[in-house]
Amino acid sequence: MEIDYQKMDAMQHNVNAESTTMVDSHEKRILVIDDDDVIRESIKRLLKTQPYLITEAESSEQAKTIIENNTFDCILLDYRLDDMDGIELMPAIQASNDRPCPVIMITAYSEERLIVEALRNGFYDYINKSHLDAKVLLSVINASFRWTELQVKLQEAQQKLETLSMYDSLTGLPNRNLFFDRLAQAKLNATRSHKPFALLMLDLNLFKQVNDTHGHAVGDHLLKDVAGRLKKIARKSDTYARLGGDEFAVILHDIQTETDITQVVDKIVKQINIPFSIEGHTLHIGVAIGGALFKEGMNESLLLEQADASMYKAKKANRAYELFTDNDVINTQPKLEIGSYIASGIQRNEFYLNFQPQVDLVTGECCGLEVLSRWHSHSLGIVSPDDFIRASERSNVIWKLSYHIFEMAFKQMRAWAAQGLHYPMSINLSAKLLEDEYLLDNIHGYLRRYEIDPQQLTFEITETALMDNVVAANEKLDIIAGMGIKISIDDFGTGYTSFKYLREYASHEIKVDKVFVINLPSNARDASIVQSFISLATGFKTQLIAEGVESAEILMQLKAMGCMRAQGYWIARPMLAENIPLWVKDWDIAEKLSLPH
Ligand code: C2E
Ligand code: CA
Ligand code: CA
Repeated sequence: MEIDYQKMDAMQHNVNAESTTMVDSHEKRILVIDDDDVIRESIKRLLKTQPYLITEAESSEQAKTIIENNTFDCILLDYRLDDMDGIELMPAIQASNDRPCPVIMITAYSEERLIVEALRNGFYDYINKSHLDAKVLLSVINASFRWTELQVKLQEAQQKLETLSMYDSLTGLPNRNLFFDRLAQAKLNATRSHKPFALLMLDLNLFKQVNDTHGHAVGDHLLKDVAGRLKKIARKSDTYARLGGDEFAVILHDIQTETDITQVVDKIVKQINIPFSIEGHTLHIGVAIGGALFKEGMNESLLLEQADASMYKAKKANRAYELFTDNDVINTQPKLEIGSYIASGIQRNEFYLNFQPQVDLVTGECCGLEVLSRWHSHSLGIVSPDDFIRASERSNVIWKLSYHIFEMAFKQMRAWAAQGLHYPMSINLSAKLLEDEYLLDNIHGYLRRYEIDPQQLTFEITETALMDNVVAANEKLDIIAGMGIKISIDDFGTGYTSFKYLREYASHEIKVDKVFVINLPSNARDASIVQSFISLATGFKTQLIAEGVESAEILMQLKAMGCMRAQGYWIARPMLAENIPLWVKDWDIAEKLSLPH
């Protein structure tokens, strides 16, 4: 099927036009370092027609002085100089430029070993002296300029990601990641200086009701205003963070007495008790605050549990504030509830699968299915996968549950294959499973038993989960990738320095989290984030898929931005296996977008 993406291509064109005007058009500066006058002269002659500013150096000493005082867009460097090897100049070059500067080696040798060594030492490319002509020279130099642009884009994307990974995008407050960093720091400082600090956990009252009655937009606005008021009272040295939902946390430094804490608590309560005026609604909400004081020798999670317990105590007693005392106990009972039902749920066959199509935005065709598990529990009713996966991950029951899900998915794949239907399948892999020593054997077993082509298989793994597991996870993922199975980094952008994981793991795909996609058309910030993910993926030659495509508008915008694949409710909701073949047969993206064929 040929698709006419007229409208999309027009948008694509706009994006391209914009990006070319952004390219730096200043005169390019090139440094030629060679002790042979003849070579320098011939390079200058070959580049004569180009708008380049050429500087020459005939020895490494001279080159060093020039490099220290100037910046260049490209350096042509002789492999063997009279006074030293060209390679030895690399550290000086790399240290002097604040933006990446490609170095092209000029060599009389075409020995492979030398070339490999040079490339390993950071040379961008090489040119053989005996093949020096204008065409070769220009194509290598121009390619090196494009390389620089890509490097700069990657650096920008990385910076953006780093900010993104530390601050909550809605309120601008530090997020969970930064909060846990600061908490660890506070613990170290307190231990060193013997000055205790306090932790407050805040939970808004009636937030859920506001969300349910007035909608998410009002809820979001409220959270922003709450954060605004907290910022007003915050001391510079303290950390006010949003941990998620309507949950905030505060780290208070240099606490001498309990009164120091209550003074801050009073200010917070007073601020939150003032009614909020949002989109014509006057909203009275309150807050429940739990406090805990750090004592030497305590670990962070105990402190968090104590503050959490006091917060629940305050909530239950309908009070604004409780401080954890030695008489309080931490009750973890309710959290374990779901987990204890999962094993029997597996036995009773209460789990089943849904499949959600993924489409290729270039061909328009279905290019895979994500396997999503569902649980209709006999005792608890319908439980959301977010809840039962998280509950099962707290114990090893996640292993049993995951293998049960794999078994169902592979059986289905086999059944479809028998009907001649070969859908690539993406299965979510809990990072906890990477701790199971039998994981690799089990995967081998499935591939063999169900005659699965590993090329048709992707494991989606969340980057936040990878963070806890670095070394072991890395090795196992490499082996899985070695079997021919693809690895996708799920919920991309929500974790900590995603960029790092891209470099460290054998990933074939990044899956942009739906939080960046759902508001794409109305949120310029999200659009710029998604655009930088797309640049990253292109730079790393990695496949990219966006989830959370809830409208045609989002899909068109993604396509215009160069996004390769998409998944979301507008394309298809997750559905039972029996509905998939008909959906795939009927799926026609052009028709759905009302575009001419
Ligand atoms: P996920 O891996 O990020 O899966 C995508 C979730 O987004 C699914 O929710 C899907 O139904 C939902 N979704 C798809 N398109 C849209 C859209 O356009 N808009 C919105 N708002 N949502 C969309 P679901 O099925 O509730 O799954 C939630 C999470 O539970 C999954 O997030 C995944 O982390 C986990 N999960 C589900 N099944 C499994 C499983 O078999 N194994 C493991 N380890 N985790 C699973
Ligand atoms: Ca997923
Ligand atoms: Ca996801």
